[in-house]
Amino acid sequence: MADSAFNPFEMAQTQFDSIADTLDLDEGTRQILRNPLREYHFQIPVRMDDGTVQCFQGFRVQHNDARGPAKGGIRFHPQETINTVRALAMWMTWKCATVDIPLGGGKGGVICDPHNLSAREEERLCRGWMRQMARDVGPVRDVPAPDVMTSPQHMLWMMDEYETITGTKAPGVITGKPVGMGGSLGRTEATGYGVIFTVREALKELGIRPQDTCASFQGFGNVAQYAMQLYGQLGGKVVCVSSWDQGDQTSYAFKKDDGLDLDTLLGITDRFGGIDKAKAKEMGIEVLPGDAWITQDVDILIPAALENQVTGKNAGDISQRVKVIAEGANGPTTPEADKIIHERGIYMIPDVLSNAGGVTCSYFEQVQCNMNYFWDKDDVLSRLDLKMTSAFQAVSALAKKRGIYHRDATFLIAVDRVARACRDRGWV
Ligand code: NAD
Repeated sequence: MADSAFNPFEMAQTQFDSIADTLDLDEGTRQILRNPLREYHFQIPVRMDDGTVQCFQGFRVQHNDARGPAKGGIRFHPQETINTVRALAMWMTWKCATVDIPLGGGKGGVICDPHNLSAREEERLCRGWMRQMARDVGPVRDVPAPDVMTSPQHMLWMMDEYETITGTKAPGVITGKPVGMGGSLGRTEATGYGVIFTVREALKELGIRPQDTCASFQGFGNVAQYAMQLYGQLGGKVVCVSSWDQGDQTSYAFKKDDGLDLDTLLGITDRFGGIDKAKAKEMGIEVLPGDAWITQDVDILIPAALENQVTGKNAGDISQRVKVIAEGANGPTTPEADKIIHERGIYMIPDVLSNAGGVTCSYFEQVQCNMNYFWDKDDVLSRLDLKMTSAFQAVSALAKKRGIYHRDATFLIAVDRVARACRDRGWV
């Protein structure tokens, strides 16, 4: 979203085309997987606090549901585009297949800036989104979740609207809800922890101890904060994080060579993951231009903000010391950057594997909602670890066997599973 000329859906299709060639997929299967099965574009009229009505553009894309109900977050962002939503929906299909959960891929979005909305306006927007989509989502049809700038509270308003419209109790319609209102323990941590489960496994393969490593993050929201927490518990040191500054409309990187303290940073961060640069300076944290996160002399890079951040232009700036890149964000690395990273022999843990912890835990949340019985947090997190680790091992085994890049190995496994489901159903 940072670059208006960048089309994430073209990038997702380019990735798919190359895997389709390797798998030698027939033309019908290519066509059905290359595009979304269904998409919805709609206006959401919202009565603002000052009495005026503002219409917001909303989207939902159901890319593929051959393996189960569509699944994917709803993003609130001022630069949201249908092509971003299409790409994210396609990546969700591959992600659910990578971790082998019985779900398809979907994604939603609204063009809006929650920084400029009151809580009541956000509530009306969430309810308006659901009024437009209630006929076409549902526990066995399409199950939304939070994403960038959407929260458990947003999910609860949407669930409430859905239940009001359908006259049912249907907590399985949406995931990422607050704990106690159908949410799962561990969901808040799940994506960030999942990223670190895969980093832990990659380091094990490389024969490196986490406590001997340091890392740099892009982004300091839900994913980055919990990844940083677990990485810290394993003994790793985070020396740099970057975040978006709403006031200046640019990003900054925050650096401390002897390690940034998570709780200190959380104390000076707003609910959107924006770090207060004046307070950071007072605390002796260096404030650098936003792109400094990628040039740090670290062992691990974790892009956890947005797509199109590691590109052909800046991949060459990655330090020679970097051994692992774990994609917390969706689509942060372009195919041009992939070539450079592959040639450099950096261990890439691709988004559809690395950040699959969120959707895996969302799946657990749905299972718990359907049973109306909730597991304790250790139970959730140990099941999550098991799922992430076994998906990681399957990808790693294939990458080794065929001598291929980890992103290609991941996509080969995922696309093959979805293509088989389409064939087995008789769609193609
Ligand atoms: P979030 O809204 O909680 O946080 C986003 C963070 O990125 C904030 O700290 C923001 O300041 C920062 N940011 C935005 N633009 C930036 C820029 N140009 N440079 C530096 N920092 C910038 O979002 P999140 O839930 O943490 O999601 C982050 C990424 O992870 C997204 O790509 C999202 O799709 C992906 N993801 C999220 C989940 C989840 O469960 N939350 C699951 C899978 C993937």
